[in-house]
Amino acid sequence: MIIVMNHAAPDSAIERVVAEIERMGNKAHLSRGQFRTVIGAVGEEGSLDQAHLSSLDGVEKVVPIMKPYKLASREFHEDDTVVPIGGGKVPVVKVGGGHALCIAGPCAVENEEMLNRIARQVRDGAATVLRGGVYKPRTSPYSFQGLGLQALKWMRATGDELGMPICVEVMDTRQVEQMEPFVDCFQIGARNMQNFDLLREVGKTRRPVLLKRGLAATVKDWLLSAEYVLSQGNRDVILCERGIKTFEDSIRYSMDVSSIPVVKHWSHLPVIVDPSHAAGRRDYVPQLAAAGMAAGAHGVIVEVHYCPSEAQCDGPQALLPEVFKDLMIKLRKIAGLFDKTFAEVGELAQA
Ligand code: PEP
Ligand code: MN
Repeated sequence: MIIVMNHAAPDSAIERVVAEIERMGNKAHLSRGQFRTVIGAVGEEGSLDQAHLSSLDGVEKVVPIMKPYKLASREFHEDDTVVPIGGGKVPVVKVGGGHALCIAGPCAVENEEMLNRIARQVRDGAATVLRGGVYKPRTSPYSFQGLGLQALKWMRATGDELGMPICVEVMDTRQVEQMEPFVDCFQIGARNMQNFDLLREVGKTRRPVLLKRGLAATVKDWLLSAEYVLSQGNRDVILCERGIKTFEDSIRYSMDVSSIPVVKHWSHLPVIVDPSHAAGRRDYVPQLAAAGMAAGAHGVIVEVHYCPSEAQCDGPQALLPEVFKDLMIKLRKIAGLFDKTFAEVGELAQA
């Protein structure tokens, strides 16, 4: 249910509504818009007394949210959410609304030297956030699984050195506490989109969460997973369309471009695309990235490697650094056509 306060409602009236929501055993989530405050009351169905809430001072109206996801819905928060990534030793990069984001880097951190080299290459190509897996979800238990904590430390050091926030996948609830001090953004992989315990755990942190869409998840399922994170008090969820399984077998996954306008209609959360994992091969990546941006995505996450044939993981889909650079020039133009701007690396470095 959402409680819309009238625009002149004083803080004391807002506090009273919050207290009443909590007394009824619900959680209150505040959304302060430009003109008014909206309070989301979330809890067991039937536990809220709508008539009582409507009668409180400063309340303009009380409206039930019809969608199964509440805090993720546009009804709860009308304006696009802008998520900040970074801070501390690295600049803050924004995504959402008019802010477009480019996350790039290797699929997995293989050693310190390769990470340093690729990180510089993606920064020179105008990526503003560095990616790199340290725990890898692999189909076979005998494939490279990632270098864990050591690689996480390299990621942090590299991000700090280059002034780039880092985004790293977390696979298990037991890794959250270990990773939180190092990362600027948690990535939840497609295979973990419905790992509800993990979603709750990252929801308790104050790090942004990049939530990939599951291989067989509907947009509704995906937004309900985002709701798990939001319901724990973490407002900073970035959605990521990375392709789904369909009957089409000419490509690894079908990047569902149509999910972008749907998500933007149903939700206020930023959404980016991952053309690398959808395509599974590098020659399709630029077109899919461009399609995602043209569909209204707030940016891209792409894998880059200077020697894909030597990559331990996802080599066939990794872009060569010069191709990545060229792609970013094109994506900046497309973003401009749709009223979005990618942050400039130089501008960030001074921030
Ligand atoms: C990845 O980003 O390297 C990854 C494994 O992605 P996904 O979860 O989308 O397959
Ligand atoms: Mn990968």
